[in-house]
Formats: sequence, structure tokens, C-alpha cells
Amino acid sequence: MLLRHTNKEILEREALTINPAKTCQPIGAMYAALGIHGCLPHSHGSQGCCSYHRSTLTRHYKEPVMAATSSFTEGASVFGGQANLVTAIDNIFTVYEPDLIAVHSTCLSETIGDDLQQIVTKAKDDGKIPEGKHVIYAPTPSFVGSHVTGYANMVAAMAEQFAENTGKPIDQINIVAGWMEPPDMREIKRLAKELGVTIQLFPDTSDVLDAPQTGKHVFYPKGGIRVPDLKSTGDSKSSIALGCFSGEPGAVALDKKCKVPFKTEDIPVGLRATDRFLMRLSKAAGVKIPESITDERGRLVDLMTDMEQYFHGKKVALFGDPDDLVPLTEFLLDLNMKPVHIISGTPGKRFEQRIRAILADTHADANVKNGPQADIFLLHQWIKNEPVDLLIGNTYGKYIARDEDIPFVRYGFPILDRIGHSYFPNIGYMGAIRLAEKILGVLMDRQDRDAPEESFELVM
Ligand code: SF4
Repeated sequence: MLLRHTNKEILEREALTINPAKTCQPIGAMYAALGIHGCLPHSHGSQGCCSYHRSTLTRHYKEPVMAATSSFTEGASVFGGQANLVTAIDNIFTVYEPDLIAVHSTCLSETIGDDLQQIVTKAKDDGKIPEGKHVIYAPTPSFVGSHVTGYANMVAAMAEQFAENTGKPIDQINIVAGWMEPPDMREIKRLAKELGVTIQLFPDTSDVLDAPQTGKHVFYPKGGIRVPDLKSTGDSKSSIALGCFSGEPGAVALDKKCKVPFKTEDIPVGLRATDRFLMRLSKAAGVKIPESITDERGRLVDLMTDMEQYFHGKKVALFGDPDDLVPLTEFLLDLNMKPVHIISGTPGKRFEQRIRAILADTHADANVKNGPQADIFLLHQWIKNEPVDLLIGNTYGKYIARDEDIPFVRYGFPILDRIGHSYFPNIGYMGAIRLAEKILGVLMDRQDRDAPEESFELVM
């Protein structure tokens, strides 16, 4: 009993969060920044914050995550961190030679009131930013929002500070990536290629946080959108934002600055969200969906129908990031499963509205909550009151899974104790096949484990 203090009785809490279902804004900003080629993320705050952000990303991706810090001490904490950041920018361009630095703030620098725009302008005026190099910045105060908010803020900063409308339209579609894994970003590019559509995907962490081992250390791996491509997004025909929490703010910024119209779709997790994304992309580019992709869809539908008996009616509890949970809930319904408890630590009204709308016809009585008090402790209490057959969430769910003896599928961020999320896509039809396979695997393992000897089946 690792979580022995979790009791069944649920008390209304207004301020206290226990075991949050989210993490800190700068982690998202750092992850997004790594999706630009040659970028060194910079944490404007204390060394401790930067170490935490780097180590969380490193543990999730099993890759070294480079980032710099303003290294606040007592002086900077009282008088502000301008001198630290200007010196840092000078040192970083001299020693580490990135193409750009992406600065995000922290709780401490936000509390002091440091103005990143003003400090970066000063660094520029002082000649600390070499010709052809760039510094972008995003506010990421972690006392509000979550890692998803931080990611969205940095993506919006990319659009605001890089996109240019030259007046010469380019026949390309922007895909503003919500928080997805590197193999998911690669999968988006593969799908676009199959459709024959030219896209600009940003950010793009493929080949950065899943870079191949070559025996040689490269400070800036080959992946990531290049600065000229990022600038060209202002001349694109239109944008598709993936995820209204993590992707949409970037598309809004692009529309505001360069008048590039956009549509928002869910991150293509599962059958219907992938259908919608592909239809949107094919319509935006004026192309047909090729047979190769229709075949992938057919294979997913085949799996779903063949295995329906094992999915049917199974109760599921899930927690994680809103842009994942919305299409994931929809996919669980398509598998004829019953999502009964759904939690996201990221605040925002649209989450509950979307989930309620998805569940309205079949499971209107499900427990759904998001925001600071929607924590893993509450999820555990809900499970104690109404047990489930399956738990889906990040690594922190393993304690509940063990205590309550529930089959567990790791999904989301962070996953600290398994691999796979860095190698195989979770999105598109192929990602849905993988997810269904993982769910089936744990459900069948449970069935095998619990079956009495006389009904222990060789063939399922
Ligand atoms: S929550 Fe605030 S203080 Fe804590 S690591 Fe994140 S930025 Fe730093």
C-alpha cells in the first residue's frame, strides 16, 4: 500500500493540490524550444529550476537535454536578473554557438517582475546578439497553468517573433504541433508526404530528442524546424493547429501577425481524430487521401472489430494532458469501453465542455474534472469509490495501479520507467493500432492471470 493515506471519503478542496496531474510551465517551453534546429533553451531563474526541467525531459526521452540558466543568486532575486541574462546571452553565443536562444521565465523571475522583452532588447542594443543569430522569449510563470501552457506560450512566441509575411504566398500548409512525442511529429510529416502536401511543422522535435546514436556527440542534432522555414510560415496558405490547448495559441499568433487563417483540430489520437485531421489537411491542400492511408485505416478498423469482445464494457480511468485526453476518450468509446473517471491538471474551460459533449449520449454520469484540484489523489479516491478495469496515464499512475491492482497503460508525459514513447507514434492510424495493442495486452494479461485452471485459454 504505497498510497495508504488515500481515503474513500471525498472532501471539497479549494486550495490544496495533492499529487498534481501536471508539471511546471518551463518544462513545456523547453521542450517546444528544442523543436527549432540549433536552439539552446534558456531558463531565466535559478539553477535548481533549470536542473529540474532538464532532468525531467532527460528522464522521459532518455536523451541529454541541453539548456542554459541565468543562475539567479540572492542579488538577482532581489534586484532582478537583467545583468545575469545579458551576460548569459553574450556567453552562450560565444561558447556554445547556437543559431538561437529561446528564453523562458520561471516563478522567481516572474515574481520579481523581470521584463524579458526589455532585457532582450537591451542585449541587442548592447551588441550581444551576433548578426544572423536570434533570441526569442516567452513568459512561463509556473504558479499558473501547467507544462502544456508553457509549451503553448513558447510556440506562440515562435510565431510572433519569427513569422514574416513577405506578400509572396507560398503553396504550403502550416501544422502547428500540439504537445506530441518526436515520433508523432515524424508521423505527421510521413502522413503529409503520403498525401503529397508540403507542410511546415513547428515545433518539430523529431531527430532532436530521438536522434540516432552515431558514436559522435552533436550539440545540436539534425532535427528541428530551420529558422528560414519558421519565417516562411507567415506566407503559408493556411494553418492547422493540433490541440486547442497546446497548438492553437501558435496558430492564433500567426493569424494575428501575418493573417494566415487557421482551423483547430484535435491531436490525431485514435480513429475519428485521425479521420478529421486527414480530411482537414486534404481539403486545405486540395488533394485526395491516397489508398495507402485508407488501407492503414482499414487495418485499424479490422483490429477494433476483431477484438471488440475484449474491450467491450471495460471501465477506464484516465489522466493526463487535455489535448491527449479529448481524442483518447473518443477512441475509448469507439472501442466500446467506458471512460468513467477523467482528470487533467491543466486548467481551461474547454476541456470539460469537450469531454462532456463526447460522453453526453453514453456516459453522461462520468466523473470529469480539470485544474489544480483535479489531481491524482482525487482520481485515486474516485477509483476507490467506483473501481475500474483499466488505468491510463503517465508514470505516476503506477502507484494507484499497484495499490488497487489495476491493469495500467502508460500514456502521456512524463513516462519515466518505460521506453517506446520515443520510438513509436501514438498518433494516426498506426499509433491507434499500437495503443489498442497495449490496452489489449494488459487486459489479456489480467484475464490470463485471474482465469481458473479449467478456463485458462491458449487461444484468445
Ligand atoms: S514550479 Fe516554479 S520554482 Fe518550481 S521548478 Fe518550476 S519554475 Fe522553478
